[in-house]
Amino acid sequence: NADTAMYCSKHNGRDNFEFFSPSMSSQALERLALEGSLRKAVEDKELQIFYQPQIQIETGKIIGMEALLRWKHPNLGMIPPNKFIPLAEETGLILPIGNWVLEECCRQNKEWQDKGLINIPISINLSAVQFRQHNLFDTVQQALISTGLRACYLELELTENMLMDCSEYNVTLLKKFRQLGVSFALDDFGTGYSSLSYLSRFPISRLKIDESFVIDIPEHKNNAAIISAAISLGHDLGMTIIAEGVETKKQFNYMQAHQCDEIQGHLFSQAVPKEAMEQLLEKNYLDCNLL
Ligand code: C2E
Ligand code: MG
Ligand code: MG
Repeated sequence: NADTAMYCSKHNGRDNFEFFSPSMSSQALERLALEGSLRKAVEDKELQIFYQPQIQIETGKIIGMEALLRWKHPNLGMIPPNKFIPLAEETGLILPIGNWVLEECCRQNKEWQDKGLINIPISINLSAVQFRQHNLFDTVQQALISTGLRACYLELELTENMLMDCSEYNVTLLKKFRQLGVSFALDDFGTGYSSLSYLSRFPISRLKIDESFVIDIPEHKNNAAIISAAISLGHDLGMTIIAEGVETKKQFNYMQAHQCDEIQGHLFSQAVPKEAMEQLLEKNYLDCNLL
């Protein structure tokens, strides 16, 4: 019980204490059960990749897609990534899972290209745990070699917190990836805790404006102001800007009026299984009436 309380205290941050309560152990048990079934999920191939298209505002064409992980639990149904990725990170399971996502996305994108579908990059979310691995570059390069996907069709999504460490090592690492042809997007822009200096140090090609800013525009004047400032900042730094979580025509209009380049959101399509993504790629554009 003391161990459970200690675990709970650590989980809530540094310099804390907790008294044991029975609810803690049920939470701990639940976590343990989830951990066990996540291990099994990896072996039993219960994890699945969904794909969400990204659209260029000017043309209505699909210019990219993001890979989003799903866990189809036999009893609990679909478990969203926000529920199991933190657990996968704590247990180290994120490394085999992340490697599988990387391999599978490169393989799938190459397969679509070989079928004659449009050649577009696939974006993969990297966890901070993966980013800290010293063999990350080799792992990615190996996935590209083994699947035959050209590096320019792979984008890695990082978050601001991962780039807080502007060490020479990280700057060199990202530059090495750029030389290989792999590009970087900055995910959830504006939500992390960091200074902006990393924006000029790291070779980042795209800024992804977080959906929390998009949700209530144009009514929410402060978020609208943050979005238009982020678009100008990104453009001045030579980046492409993509808005996440665009659900309404109003939000779309705002993005278009403020020279945002690209959109990702339910207005066009949710993240879909590979068969549905393939159909979208065959069409190569999404509802142009919206434009
Ligand atoms: P993210 O990378 O910021 O992904 C965008 C999230 O927004 C996705 O949630 C997507 O389904 C959701 N979304 C897209 N369009 C809309 C919209 O119009 N409205 C709303 N309300 N939401 C929208 P999802 O799939 O639940 O993923 C959540 C997070 O889990 C991702 O956030 C990413 O950080 C993480 N994640 C997903 N797949 C992976 C993975 O393979 N590896 C790692 N390390 N993290 C992943
Ligand atoms: Mg992402
Ligand atoms: Mg995001």
